[in-house]
This record gives sequence, C-alpha cells and structure tokens, in this order.
Amino acid sequence: MSEKKIPLIWQIGIGFILGIVAGAVLGEKVQIVEPVGSIFLTLLKMIIVPLVFSSLVVGAASIGDPRDLGRIGLKTIAFYLVTTAVAITIGLLLGNFLQPGVGMAIGEGAAFSAPEAPSIKNVIMGLFPANPLKAAVDGNMLQIIVFALFLGVSAVLAGEKGKPFINFFDSLAETMYKLTGIVMKIAPYGVFALIAVTVSKYGMSVLAPFAKVILAVYVGCALQVLLVYSGLITVFVKKSPFWFLRGIREAGLTAFVTRSSSATLPVTMRNTQENLGVSEKVSSFVLPLGATINMDGTALYQGVCALFVAQAYGLSLGMGAQLSIVLTATLASIGTAGVPGAGLIMLTLVLTAVGLPLEGVALVAGIDAVLDMARTAVNVVGDSCVATVVASTEGEKL
Ligand code: ASP
Repeated sequence: MSEKKIPLIWQIGIGFILGIVAGAVLGEKVQIVEPVGSIFLTLLKMIIVPLVFSSLVVGAASIGDPRDLGRIGLKTIAFYLVTTAVAITIGLLLGNFLQPGVGMAIGEGAAFSAPEAPSIKNVIMGLFPANPLKAAVDGNMLQIIVFALFLGVSAVLAGEKGKPFINFFDSLAETMYKLTGIVMKIAPYGVFALIAVTVSKYGMSVLAPFAKVILAVYVGCALQVLLVYSGLITVFVKKSPFWFLRGIREAGLTAFVTRSSSATLPVTMRNTQENLGVSEKVSSFVLPLGATINMDGTALYQGVCALFVAQAYGLSLGMGAQLSIVLTATLASIGTAGVPGAGLIMLTLVLTAVGLPLEGVALVAGIDAVLDMARTAVNVVGDSCVATVVASTEGEKL
C-alpha cells in the first residue's frame, strides 16, 4: 500500500488541512465526525497514567542518587519559571502595542465568580498522596510524580531484590510507548475530526470582532517559540532550532487540536525521546512535571487578555499593575490544569489580582477555544524545550 509510505507527520498535516476545509465547507454537518476526535483523545488519556508512572519509576531508579534528582529538579523548575515569566512579558508587550481591546463593544457579560486560589501550604501538602491508587485514579499528576520518584529511589536502595521491580516497570514503560505508537496511527483521522469540528463551531463571523486579540496571542506564541525556545536550543544545546522544531512537530500539532497538554503527554514523551534523543531519565521527569505546571502559552495569553479586558472596559493599567500581572499569571499558569479551557478559569485570578471586572472572562469565553489551540501548542513545545536543554546540561549527547 503506497499510503504507508507517507510519513506520519505528513498524514497528520493532511488530516489537519482537510479538516479545516471540511469544517469551513460543511459547517455544522461535519460535527458527525466528532466521535472520531473524542475517541482519539480518550485513547491518549488512557495511556497517560501508566506511561508516566512506569517511566518515572525507571527514570528515578536510573538517576539513583537523590542529589542528582535534586539538581535536575532545581534546574528544571528554574527554566520553567524563567520561560513562563518571559512569555507573560511578551504577552504584555503585545497587549500594550496592539491594543486589542480598544474600541471593543462590550457585550453583556455573564457574572463570573473567581475560584479560590489554593494557599501555598495546601499546594505543598497536596503533593503527597495518602493513597497512591486514588492519585492514579484521579489522574493527580503531581502526586503520581512524587510517589513514582519515591518508589524508583527505594527500588535502587533495595538492591538485588529491587531489580525485578524496576525491570517490570521498564517493560511496562516500553509497552506504553508502543501503545502510543499504535494510537498515533489514528492521529490523522483524530486530528481531522477535532479541527473540522472546531472550525465549524467558530466561523469567521464569530472571530472577526476579536481579530486583534487572536492576532496578539498568535503572534506572541510565535515569538515565544521562534525567539525564546529557538534561542535556548541554540545557546544550550548548540543545535539548529529547526532540528528541535522538526522533532517536536507531531506533539505541537496534537496539542493544537486536542487543546490539552495532559492528553498530548504521550506524544510529547515519544517525540522528545525518539526525535530529540533525550534520555528516559530526564524526559520522564521533566515532561510530566511540565505538562502539569509549565504553561508558557497560557501565561502569555493571560497577559494579553488582562490588557484586553482593561482596554475593553476603558481602564488603564500602570506599570505596577502590569508587574503584578507577571507575578499572578506565573502562579495562575502553574495552577492551570493541562485540559481544554483551564486557562480561562485561571484568568479570573489574574483579573482579580489587578482589580479588573471578572465579566471580562465572559468576553474572552466566546473565542477561547481558538486561543487555547495556540497556547496549548506552546505549552507543550515549551516543556520539550526545557527537557532538551536540561538533558544537554546534564551532558547528554543529543
Ligand atoms: N489547554 C491548556 C493546556 O492543556 C491549558 C489552558 O487552558 O491554558 O495546556
């Protein structure tokens, strides 16, 4: 069959383009393919917990020395924080420059109540699972990470007796990678369905009044990838940014259409290991952590949207307010779950912090899915970039 010869990424790309055409031409009728997209998403989600858990146990075991683990952890978090802060700054610059909200006719916004921000104490206490099985069932990624790290280190300390345990998880991780490969075979169809349905729901008429916000978020996302990630890869990995972007494109596209960094995680891990050559030791730790706490695209979007809402309501934000946006959007993006639309909910935190009307969230809500696609792709590419940089600083040959 000649179809087999077409590389997967091309098949996915073709599915993506055909999906846009089908959504635009067929309109609502195309929504009949929605189950195909949902099944693709569900299959990806099905892989996450066993994949993350098994590869992290093996990863922690191969790091062995808890001090090495600590060093990799600190480096990872430092890179995550810096890239996030830079992303918000780019968002704020574009928001000030493009002024997306000026002249906006404000619709009647539904009232929104701000979610309670969890306290630092609760966040830290919540890292430790009393019941690891419950953490797995709930898909609580941070608790899964903590438990897997403990297990991996303990298995090494158990010496000979711990070896079969590590081998078992090694075999499970390998099996889950193979399963990811099988699921990716239907990616072209899943991508087609997801994008067709999105296009059919958000026609031009819905998007036109928001053209400038969309432009600001998309340009910002492009800058984050082309300047920040490409710069990091060039400086730390000493490789061409094209090498990196080519390696991670499947995951970027999957994130774009699924709007979930968490669902994309199996693809991100596969791309980062197979195409970029990052070890399981580094990627199995850095990537699941990133899918949970590192959301550069979301942070950038929150910067743009805070200014958009301020401008739409005719309020001006001074330097001080914009600085507190950098701070709160960093925290809000850390707290954002890697699922579709989560960033919009967390936007309420940012608006509250600088005293903007929460109804602004309703203003953004109508087009949020379109913004979510770009920001999720950046979230995922950002995770992989940091994994690649950390691997390189750990002396890995990429
Ligand atoms: N959808 C994003 C993600 O999964 C989170 C967000 O809504 O900003 O990364």
